[in-house]
Amino acid sequence: MTSPKYVLSGLKPTGRVHLGNYFGAVKNWVELQELHPCYYFVADWHALTANYADPSSIRDLTFNAVADWISAGMDPQRTAIFVQSEIKEHAELHLLLSMITPLPWLERVPTVKDIQAQDDDTLNTYGFLGYPLLQTADIIVYRAAYVPIGVDQAAHLEISREIVRRFNNFYGDVFPEPQPLFTATPKVPGLDARKMSKSYNNTIGLTASADDIRALVMTMFTDPNRLRRKDPGNPDICNLFQFHKLFSDDATIARVDHECRTAQIGCVDDKKLLAEIMIEQLRPIREKRERIDADPSYVWDVLREGNRKARERAAETLEKVRAAMKIDYPEFR
Ligand code: SF4
Repeated sequence: MTSPKYVLSGLKPTGRVHLGNYFGAVKNWVELQELHPCYYFVADWHALTANYADPSSIRDLTFNAVADWISAGMDPQRTAIFVQSEIKEHAELHLLLSMITPLPWLERVPTVKDIQAQDDDTLNTYGFLGYPLLQTADIIVYRAAYVPIGVDQAAHLEISREIVRRFNNFYGDVFPEPQPLFTATPKVPGLDARKMSKSYNNTIGLTASADDIRALVMTMFTDPNRLRRKDPGNPDICNLFQFHKLFSDDATIARVDHECRTAQIGCVDDKKLLAEIMIEQLRPIREKRERIDADPSYVWDVLREGNRKARERAAETLEKVRAAMKIDYPEFR
């Protein structure tokens, strides 16, 4: 029997999940549970790299993110769902990796170069410079084989793989080299056709109420050239039509495509149609979130158990690491 291949992924605590987060990451995480043992965490230490001056919202953002992850189908029975800062082994391994990582490897990371070129020195910190090391520690402390990422993030994982090779070269094969697990995720536009992002204020929450979905869909950008009801539209350049592709069945997509091009359906009617489809498709997720909100302690119970599972595996790894680096002292055991 081959040993299981662990999957590791995390997100900064950004509160309630929006449809961009869902289709871009969380849905894939849920599906991966069928294939591998998974470790998913809230990266609250990473949140501090940028938000160190005001960490007051981190606890709330953590709760809301995890409540939505579970509502979306993350299964606490199978998967370790945990909080990074509760597993001190990430920090110990980060420190040990900092001993062996050449400074130029960190200085050449594009985001670090960008920050150093800016006038604003908020992010010109030791923590920010070291964040690729903390990310590496996050992954390898679970000896993860796979990290689900988009193709555009491949370079981020490469530095982790280089550090693992350097570590293994010095101290023996302690860590597997983490492999990217590429998944095609659809690009989810926001209400205004830019990328869906909280910073653009153009999001729809995964667990938004039916009334909120109706109101938000009404504000969605459509084909900008379709000015009058009797003008034929072009779904290919319509922002709203992208949402039909995510939520509607094939027959509906084909019908709307045809009726739009022949001006048989108006945008207002199409918005009403889409809103009802989205409300229906998202119903089970929304209802699960309502059950969680009726008993919020459930989320903390899940995280406590997830922390325990994560800590167990991370502790095993650090024992191997300390032994390999000759900093385990039998005299102290
Ligand atoms: S009818 Fe629908 S697909 Fe056509 S332009 Fe309007 S919103 Fe877009």
